[in-house]
Amino acid sequence: MSLQVIGDPVLHSKSPVIHGAMLGLLGLDIDYTAHVVRRGELPQYLAWARENGVIGFNATMPHKEDLLPLLDKIDPAAEIVGAVNTVCLRDGKWVGFNTDGAGAVAALKDGLSVDPAGLTVTLLGAGGAAKAVALALSQAGAERVFVCNRTLARAQELCAHDPLGRLAPAGFDPDTLCRMAGQSRLLVNCTNLGMEGCPHQFDDFSFLDALPPDAGVFDLIYHPAETELLSQARRRGLKTLNGLPMLVWQAVLALEHFLNRPLDRGEMAGAATAAIAEH
Ligand code: NAP
Repeated sequence: MSLQVIGDPVLHSKSPVIHGAMLGLLGLDIDYTAHVVRRGELPQYLAWARENGVIGFNATMPHKEDLLPLLDKIDPAAEIVGAVNTVCLRDGKWVGFNTDGAGAVAALKDGLSVDPAGLTVTLLGAGGAAKAVALALSQAGAERVFVCNRTLARAQELCAHDPLGRLAPAGFDPDTLCRMAGQSRLLVNCTNLGMEGCPHQFDDFSFLDALPPDAGVFDLIYHPAETELLSQARRRGLKTLNGLPMLVWQAVLALEHFLNRPLDRGEMAGAATAAIAEH
C-alpha cells in the first residue's frame, strides 16, 4: 500500500517529508514517495497506480486541472476551484479533492490568529493558487475579497466562479493596490513575485503603508522563507506569515482524505513542521 505525490518537476517536493512524519506518528506502514509524471501521461499513471497498490496521491504542477476529466468523482469544493491536489482510490473509484484553500485558511487561523470571517481581504494574483485561496476565504465568511491581478480579465474570470459573490476583481497598479489595502485587514500574496527563481519583484510596497497597523500579511511563497514583501511588512510592524504552514495544513487535510478518517490535526501539523525543520 502506498501514497505518492506526482508532478513535473516533483523531486524537490517536501510532501514525502511531511507525510512521512505524519504516517510515522500514526504508526502506519504506508510509503509516501515522489513520482515524476509528465504532462499527458496521467491516463497511464492512473492505470499503473491502480494495479500497484497506490491508495491515493497528491498532484502538483502541471496536473491539478488536467486530472478533473479523468476522475470518477470530484468533491464539490474542488469542482468550483476547477483543480484537485488530492486524489483517493475509494471502492475502486478515483475521487478528487482540493485542500489548498482550506489549508490556507487553517494556516491563517493557526499561524497568524486570523479568522477570515467578516474580514475584507486584498488578495494578489489570479492563478491556480489564488483561485483556491480566494474561494476558500469566501467560503470561510470573508466579507469581501479584492482579487487584484496584472491581467484583469483573469481576476474577473476567477471572481465569476464565486457562488457567494464575495470576490471583486481589481487591477494591480500601485494606486489600486493602495486603495484596496486601505480597506483590508489582511493581504495575501498569491503571485510569484519574490519567489526564488522568479526574475520579478513588486515595483513598490506603498500598499503596505495603506494597511491598518493591526493587519496581517500572508505570502504563499516559502522559498525564500522571508520574501521581500514579508520583510517590508515586518519592518512596518505588520503581522506576517509565509507559505510553509499552508503547505503543512493542506497535507494534514489531504491525509484525512487518504485515510478517510479525522485526525488530531494539531498533532499532525506539529509533527510535519518539526520534520521540515530537521530536514
Ligand atoms: P500561477 O497559476 O502561474 O499564477 C501566477 C500569478 O502570479 C498570476 O496571477 C500572475 O499574473 C502573477 N504574476 C506573475 N508574474 C507577475 C509579475 N511580474 N507581475 C505581476 N503579477 C505577476 O501560479 P500558482 O500556481 O497560482 O502559484 C503562485 C504562487 O503560490 C507561487 O509562488 C507558488 O509557489 C505559491 N504556492 C504556494 C503554496 C503553498 O502551499 N504555500 C501552494 C500553491 C502555490 P497574470 O495572471 O497577470 O499572469
